[in-house]
Formats: sequence, structure tokens, C-alpha cells
Amino acid sequence: MNEDKYWEEQRITNDPQEMEEYFECDFCGSPIYKNQEYYIFEGDILCEQCFDEVQMTTKRKCQRIAGEDDGD
Ligand SMILES: [Zn+2]
Repeated sequence: MNEDKYWEEQRITNDPQEMEEYFECDFCGSPIYKNQEYYIFEGDILCEQCFDEVQMTTKRKCQRIAGEDDGD
């Protein structure tokens, strides 16, 4: 159970103006509503959650430890 998502849904339910769907996340298909933040990554529309995942993946890919794995 994603508590943040639950409260976000409650907020949207209580505010009908928020219901206007603008985009869908290209990764997970979640609706992105008017006035909601979204992210453009390499031409894809991402919701905040997917962007965080992409960011974490990218961070791990780029991460090195000095003195370890620094070449052959
Ligand atoms: Zn998404």
C-alpha cells in the first residue's frame, strides 16, 4: 500500500479541478493531471516516481569507488 499515492488520490478526489488528465507516464502509464509535476527524460514523459527510479539507476551506473573498479 502506497500511502503517498493514497493521500494524493484523496486530494484529487476532494478537488475536482485536479481531475483533468494531461499526459500519461511513458514508463508506468500513470495519469499526469493538470498542475502536476512531470519530467522529460530523453524525450519520454515520466511521473515523479519513475523519474526517481531512472535517476537512481543512472546514479548507480555512474557510481565508482576510488581505488575499486577503476579500470583493468
Ligand atoms: Zn511513471
